[in-house]
Amino acid sequence: MLKGKSVIVTGSTSGIGLGIARAFAAQGCNVMLNGFGDGAQIEKLRSAIAAEHKVTVLYSSADMAKALEVSAMVDQVARRFGTVDVLVNNAGIQHVAPVEEFPVEKWDQILAINLSSAFHAIRTALPGMKSRNWGRIINVASAHGLVASPFKSAYVAAKHGLVGLTKSVALETAGKGITCNAICPGYVLTPLVEKQIEDQSKARGISREETIDKVILDRQPSTEFVKIEEVAALAVFLAGDPAASITGAAYSIDGGWTAQ
Ligand code: NAD
Repeated sequence: MLKGKSVIVTGSTSGIGLGIARAFAAQGCNVMLNGFGDGAQIEKLRSAIAAEHKVTVLYSSADMAKALEVSAMVDQVARRFGTVDVLVNNAGIQHVAPVEEFPVEKWDQILAINLSSAFHAIRTALPGMKSRNWGRIINVASAHGLVASPFKSAYVAAKHGLVGLTKSVALETAGKGITCNAICPGYVLTPLVEKQIEDQSKARGISREETIDKVILDRQPSTEFVKIEEVAALAVFLAGDPAASITGAAYSIDGGWTAQ
C-alpha cells in the first residue's frame, strides 16, 4: 500500500524519528533521514536501512532551526524521489527551567525546531501534495501538546502550537486526498528522556530507577514507557489508506497520561 512512496522524517538519526524512518522503510518506502550526530555512524545507519529493506535512503544534515535549510531539504527530496508523499515532522528538543529563568535563546530554539520547522516543511511540501491529490502529514507532538507540566514552558507552548497547526492544515487540505494529524506520545525511553532522567536524578539525589518510577513515569498510569515501535506503527497506520478519513486528530499514545 505504501510501497514506493517517498517519506521525510525530520530528526531521524535517533529515538522516535529513527524508529519511524525504519518502519516506513519496512513498508517499501524511500526515506530521507535528517538530524545530527556522528557522520560515520549516520552513514552506517543509512546504508543498513537501505540494504535491509531494499529501498533508497538519503540523509540530510539540514538544521530544523533554519527555515531555509528546512525548505531546501524538502525540495531536495522532491527532486531526488519525484514526490514528497509523507512528511513526518518529528525533530524536537527539550529544556527544563522555571519560566522566569528560562534562557531566551533556548525558548527561541525550541520554538524554531519543535514548531516552526513543521510550518516550513509543510508549506514547502504542500503544493506538490495538492497537485497529486495525495499526501500525509504527521506531526510528532506530545502529551505536552494536550496538557502541561511545570518548567517546560517552551516545549509545552511549542507542542500545543503544533497541535493547533495540525488542525489548521487539516482544514485547509480536507477533501484533497491529504491528511494532517498529530501523534501525542507520553514518555518514550530515548536520548531526550535519558537526559531528563539524568538531570532529575542528580537534582534530587536519587537513583536512576527511583527517578524513573517516582518522577518520570509518575505521570503515566501504565507505569511503563511507550515503545518507539508503537509510535512508529501509529505513524505508518496514519499514512495508510484505512486512515484516509482521519485528519486534524491528535492521537494520544501515552499509557493513559492524558485520560486523567
Ligand atoms: P531524540 O533526542 O532521541 O531525537 C531527536 C532527533 O532530532 C535527533 O535525530 C536529533 O539529531 C534531531 N534534531 C535535534 N535538533 C535538530 C535540528 N536543529 N535539526 C535537525 N534535527 C535535529 O528525541 P526523541 O525522544 O526521539 O524525540 C523525537 C520527537 O518526539 C520530538 O519532537 C519530541 O518532542 C517528541 N516526543 C518525545 C517523547 C519522549 O518521551 N521521548 C514524548 C513525546 C514526544
